[in-house]
This record gives sequence, structure tokens and C-alpha cells, in this order.
Amino acid sequence: MHDAAAPARDEATQPVPVLSVVIPIYNEQEALPLTVARLRPILDGMGVSYEVVGIDDGSTDATPVIMQKIRQEWPELRIVRFARNSGHQAALTAGIHRALGDYVVSIDADLQDPPEKITEMYALAREKDLDIVYGVRGDRGTDTFFKRRTAGAYYWLMRKLVGKNMPNQAGDFRLLSRAAVDALKSLPEHQPVYRLLVPWLGFSSGEVVYVREERVAGSTHYPLSKMVRLALDSITNFSAGPLRLATYLGLMSFLICFGLGIYTTVQYALGATVPGWASLFIGMVFLGGVQLVCVGLLGEYIGRIYSAVQARPAYFVGYDSADGDVPARGERIPEHAA
Ligand code: UDP
Ligand code: MG
Repeated sequence: MHDAAAPARDEATQPVPVLSVVIPIYNEQEALPLTVARLRPILDGMGVSYEVVGIDDGSTDATPVIMQKIRQEWPELRIVRFARNSGHQAALTAGIHRALGDYVVSIDADLQDPPEKITEMYALAREKDLDIVYGVRGDRGTDTFFKRRTAGAYYWLMRKLVGKNMPNQAGDFRLLSRAAVDALKSLPEHQPVYRLLVPWLGFSSGEVVYVREERVAGSTHYPLSKMVRLALDSITNFSAGPLRLATYLGLMSFLICFGLGIYTTVQYALGATVPGWASLFIGMVFLGGVQLVCVGLLGEYIGRIYSAVQARPAYFVGYDSADGDVPARGERIPEHAA
């Protein structure tokens, strides 16, 4: 999902803040003022220049009005408004593509991710020169049993697909360096799932543990349908496994067909069958198996076409001696000291 309209980061013509905070916002009229009240003093107190990129994901309540009002007193708030509701990940994409800062933090608008942790993330990234700092949920006690269980299953499966460098229970509360943001921007993804793509980058990373708080106001905008969609996007983004299902089923039914063939022939020889049954039955199981194997075969090819179309870069260069002392990945050492 390339954001062609996103302005390029041009340090010659515009002041570049040290920190960008990206907030996807969808119908958060109750939560937003509380979030801003808690977030602003923290950012003001960090002693670095910052911008807040509020992505209004096509809200249909008073959210846009509230955002405009807040902006009048808080010029650091930048408002990007979608024409219609496009989803949490799409809002994150727009935010990441438009953020100008040397570091970009993404955070939910409902105070479930404590903004106090932004300071900690930033300090850790600066101190250890990290590209990614994950916010890891230490305790999901405030989530419902259902949410905890589905989230547990989701992270288990995703770690199988993406590999062990995907931290468990890391959602979309995280800090990215400019280098990581540029790498993400270079990906030709149409439906990026950042919680998978970011670990996949494999850049240097750290973790900040936090307690997932209760939603401050309003109710979740992640109904089951959106959760299923996120899970499906996540699986199909990283695996052709589902396409392979037909191959396995086909092979299985072939084996079963083989056993049934022997059984049917014996029954036929014993004269224990109705005339016509044996030939029909064998034909049916055999053809079913053949068809499934063929569908599986198509799946294998489609899987390969899919990954070719995804066209993700095969590698990211971390260091090239030809670049001298300047770190590669197009990274610039931020000169604004904290
Ligand atoms: N959100 C969004 N678009 C949507 C749904 C949610 O931008 O279609 C935002 C929402 O305003 C919040 C964040 O994404 O800032 C997480 O959503 P929510 O809190 O509803 O999800 P939950 O925390 O229950 O998983
Ligand atoms: Mg929430």
C-alpha cells in the first residue's frame, strides 16, 4: 500500500522533528481528549522536538471536530483524515509513510498503551542504538478471556510463520528508527501487517514491557470480523500453507482410496457387493483424490506467483565498508541531541 501522496522527507526545506507519534483514530470522541491530556505533558517533557500524526480513519462521530479543536492549541498535532474507514493497519501505513521524525512511535488512541513508555522506548533506542523497540504486553489481565485466548493463538501461529525473532505479545505499540521506517516504506506490500513485517526486517531491536491497560472510554473497534481479517491477512502475507492444504488432502485421500480399493476388491471377489457398486465406488474415491492433488498443484504454483508478486526485497544491508563511517540503510545519525 504505497502512499504516493506522502510528502518526501526533505531536511533542506522543512524542519525535521526528532520524534513522530502516530495515532490511528477511529470514532474515539470519548477517549481522544483523555489521551491527549495524558500524552501531551509527556511529549513536552521529553525535551526533543516532536510531531503527533493523528490519522482519522474516517470517523463518523465528533472525532474530527475534536481533533481540529485540539490542534488549535497544540500545533504539534498534525491531522490526516481518511475519506472513509479503511482499517487500523491502513491508518498505521499512512502515519508511518507521512511521519517525518528520526524516530516514529505508533500508539493506540484509547490509552491501552501507556504513553509514559514512549520516553522509555526512546531512551532505550538512543542508548543502545536500536532500530526497533517493541512494546511487549506483560499482562493482559484487563482483556477479556476471549481476547486473551484469540491473541494467544494468533501470536503462537505468527511466531511459527515469521520465526522466533517475532516477540510474543507485541502489538502495534512500538518505536521505529528512520532506517526501519525507510525500509518499511520500501516494501511493496498492499496489505501490510506491521506486527509481522517489523520483526521480519530483522533490524536491531529491544523490548519495553508494559501492562495493557483498560480502554479509557468507548468500546473496541475490533469486532470478530476485523480480527478474522487481520489473522487471514497475517497468514496469507507470510505463508502459502493454506494453498498446500489441497495437496495434503489429495495425498491422504489417495492413500485411503488405495485401502478402500483393496477392501472393495475383496468384497467383490467374495460376492458380497451389489453389482456396479465396486466400480462406482473406486472411481469416485480415485477421482476425488486426483482432483484434490491437481488443485494442490495449482496452489503450489499460485503460491510461488504470489510471493513473486509480493516482490519483497531479499535482504537489507546493515553495513557496507564502502560507505565509510556512515551507517548504511540510508540512516543518518540524528544530530539533535536529546
Ligand atoms: N482503529 C482505527 N480504525 C479501525 C479500528 C480501530 O484506526 O477501523 C484504531 C482505534 O481508534 C485505536 C486502535 O486502532 O486507536 C486500536 O483499536 P481498538 O482499541 O478498537 O482495538 P483493541 O485495542 O480493542 O484491539
Ligand atoms: Mg484498544
